[in-house]
Amino acid sequence: MTPPIILGAGLTGLGCARHLPGAVIYEASNHVGGHAYSHEQGGVWFDEGAHICHAKDEAWLKLLYEQAGAVRRIEQSRVASYWHGHWLTYPVQNHLRDLPPELRIRALDDLVTAQVAHQGKTPSNYEEWCRYQYGNYLTDHFYREYTDKYWRVPMAEMGTDWLAGRLLPSQLSRIVHGAIAPLDEKQSVFSLFHYPERGGFFSFFKGLYSGLDVRLGRCAVRLDTRAREVSFEDGSTVSYRTLVSTIPLNTLVRITVDVPGELREAAAGLRCTQLLCVNLRIGKPNLSAYDWFYIYDADIDVSRVKVTSNVAPNSVPPGETALQTELFVRDDEAFDIERQKRKAAVDLGRIMGFDPDRDVRALHHVHIAHAYPIPTRDREARAQRIIDWYEARSIFPAGLFGRWKYVWSDQAYAGGKALAARIAAT
Ligand SMILES: Cc1cc2nc3c(=O)[nH]c(=O)nc-3n(C[C@H](O)[C@H](O)[C@H](O)COP(=O)(O)OP(=O)(O)OC[C@H]3O[C@@H](n4cnc5c(N)ncnc54)[C@H](O)[C@@H]3O)c2cc1C
Repeated sequence: MTPPIILGAGLTGLGCARHLPGAVIYEASNHVGGHAYSHEQGGVWFDEGAHICHAKDEAWLKLLYEQAGAVRRIEQSRVASYWHGHWLTYPVQNHLRDLPPELRIRALDDLVTAQVAHQGKTPSNYEEWCRYQYGNYLTDHFYREYTDKYWRVPMAEMGTDWLAGRLLPSQLSRIVHGAIAPLDEKQSVFSLFHYPERGGFFSFFKGLYSGLDVRLGRCAVRLDTRAREVSFEDGSTVSYRTLVSTIPLNTLVRITVDVPGELREAAAGLRCTQLLCVNLRIGKPNLSAYDWFYIYDADIDVSRVKVTSNVAPNSVPPGETALQTELFVRDDEAFDIERQKRKAAVDLGRIMGFDPDRDVRALHHVHIAHAYPIPTRDREARAQRIIDWYEARSIFPAGLFGRWKYVWSDQAYAGGKALAARIAAT
């Protein structure tokens, strides 16, 4: 009997394969892990973009702790925003007292006015959501500025379905409190998190692949749904009865020979960002008090910085600071990698206090072509049309880009596991 076939060895493929006996995973790259992989560069482990574990499920955490061995449990994350020369506690609306008084009053006034004016209204896009929640000042000077760098599309083109689990709706009493006195952020989405002492985020998952049948370096390049065959770049072809696809949905459509034209059109409108991680080792200790921070200024390309030496101090040589910086462009834009690496070092040096020529001991990068699915307003309808067509042919798109919808690592694994149960029941 032909075994179940899974395309992609990320966490969705992992969760599926561990619960689908006999499954074979075909993975394009030369390692497992997908976006959850960690790269050793210059002696330090850097993830594919800032990853932490903030899952709450005890059984899941127990499994991850067993895999990683030593794990740091950080009770209260230290997170900041860098905004035009100011270091502000994150998120800004809860800590308005960090702003100069005239801006604090302006922001608070706008926020209260907006909440009264829009009470009970349902926003139809992300821009309205922000304006209703935070008012015009914070929307224009923080959220829009950051969206331009991070999502690279106008806020009004984005839906609101991605916000749960990322941004908290504002609570006026907390905002007023934070405008006057320090506010603790124990309630924030990422306040408690876990991270392996060594080996990066991937240490949580590495051991879970043992015993699975994973074929690396097998990039799927052709799918014939009538013949039920997948072909790979190396010229090999396999037959399937059931196929799980965690590869990007637009790639799946592109390689399918018998897909209708209307689905090609639907796939063409799925948008995502690309990510350039610029990873630095700096020969100066304690350059930042934060675990990670966001940079709003338009003239600095870097959007987010994880201070690896704070999150995993034992994995960085003593006396050094390690930084993972993240830069985003849309899928139809391009990075100028060498120029942007240099600029990241120069910009970070300026705002953090190191010399980009003298102090930088290692400067590496990782380019990720599919980083985040952009939650455009038509994303869900486009993706669902494509998914329905494949599912009617015993092909199950799953995972982050498989369904073109953001999921956290625990959700990716759980989605793969749930899919295995669904397939086993058919
Ligand atoms: C920048 C960033 C930061 C994140 N931060 C966090 C965080 O802090 N905490 C958290 O819990 N989660 C985080 N996540 C989410 C988490 O990384 C993902 O949910 C999870 O890794 C997705 O797993 P997946 O298997 O669905 O997809 P992927 O990891 O994308 O796996 C798909 C696999 O398919 C392979 N593939 C692609 N094309 C082909 C082909 N043609 N043939 C064969 N194989 C192919 C790819 O190489 C890849 O290995 C983050 C994600 C990103 C992008």
